[in-house]
Amino acid sequence: MSTVPKPDEGAAIRVALICFHSCPVGRLGDTKTGGMNVYVRQLARELASIGCQVDVFTRTHDPDEPRIVPVGDGARVVHLEAGPADSTLDDLHSYTSAFADAVIRFQQDEGVEYDLIHSHYWLSGVVATRLAGRWNIPHIATFHTLARTKQRARAGEQESVRRAHAEQQIISSADSVVVSTQIEKDDITKLYQVNGTPIEVIPPGVDTAMFQPADTRASRQHLGLPEKRTILYVGRIEPLKGLDILLKAVALLNDRTGTRLLIVGGSLEKDAEIDRLKTLADDLDISDIVDFTGSISQQQLPAYYNAADVFVLPSWYESFGLVALEAMSCGTPVVVSRVGGLTSFIEHGKTGYLVPWRCPDAFARSLETLLENPALRQAMGGAARNRAKGMSWAAMANRILACYNHLTD
Ligand code: UDP
Repeated sequence: MSTVPKPDEGAAIRVALICFHSCPVGRLGDTKTGGMNVYVRQLARELASIGCQVDVFTRTHDPDEPRIVPVGDGARVVHLEAGPADSTLDDLHSYTSAFADAVIRFQQDEGVEYDLIHSHYWLSGVVATRLAGRWNIPHIATFHTLARTKQRARAGEQESVRRAHAEQQIISSADSVVVSTQIEKDDITKLYQVNGTPIEVIPPGVDTAMFQPADTRASRQHLGLPEKRTILYVGRIEPLKGLDILLKAVALLNDRTGTRLLIVGGSLEKDAEIDRLKTLADDLDISDIVDFTGSISQQQLPAYYNAADVFVLPSWYESFGLVALEAMSCGTPVVVSRVGGLTSFIEHGKTGYLVPWRCPDAFARSLETLLENPALRQAMGGAARNRAKGMSWAAMANRILACYNHLTD
């Protein structure tokens, strides 16, 4: 990037967000849709609400979807064709050039000039590197997850050498990298050679009006759940989330018949991982107390968080872990692995428990402590809600805008 033409005085900054592989307005909780999609959607909305013009570019994932979907006053998601709608994540790299070309065509047809480009995930980083070079504008990269951190967290994670290499190139060529936590910044510095690219730590947020505390009993009734000790997991269903550990921990609990485990996320029809976990629950003789609900729309999630006595996230790695923050915002205490971004906003013993070892015993002990102690749950839930109140999407967008302004000044 060389000298950037400054946007007209008083004119809105025009931002292109690239979210190539996964749609920010798509259904959440499937294999490819989770925290990043929520992050990009909220960022687009909040940037628009503070005066930016935002176009979010993503692949067409569903031919029936409208090409352009407004996501706020001044923000829209633009679906562009690049590769078959049902391409796997592994295939998508071959369509990054076609996608970049489609973005250029859209930009020319609309006669739009962007002031900067912000990419999300490495595949989008590949697209954005090309576009930033062509348009001579700054590129800000946010990875959400990195190949080398995932590989380090759990042996067997299949992350290609090509991905790590591309991440390295994106980090070197970007004008700035935005990460969610200091831990992610340290990881990038340690695991990738960073030669001068600034890395900004800007935490994401939670919609505390949407994720609000509500009565537990009423929430259970609303969802048709029995009046039992309720443990909740929400998220994509993949090995990195550590659900084996959770099932084995639940099998160790005292009052199993009085307990219920809800696993929200994934596709009951398509996810082989759910079938594998159901077999494990059978082997552990706990199938009758475990419910796999499949993915649930975000609007319905507050009822689930409020129906739970405790929220649990036993991941091998989390770059942030929005679901834990959403549970906290509903005043539900959390039991999570002491990994990655979770340690940046959960205070052990105050807003939940950070479990240092990925082993079922340790999780079972923390779960039992909370399930057996309503006063502790209430105290931790209250502290959790207060912590969540300090983290807003608006604050995140303001800090990201400051970063944009710095680069376009
Ligand atoms: N989510 C949802 N429905 C589901 C499962 C997940 O709406 O069935 C949302 C959830 O509210 C959260 C996001 O998906 O905002 C998951 O983000 P997180 O950072 O926890 O996980 P990631 O997907 O980034 O691994």
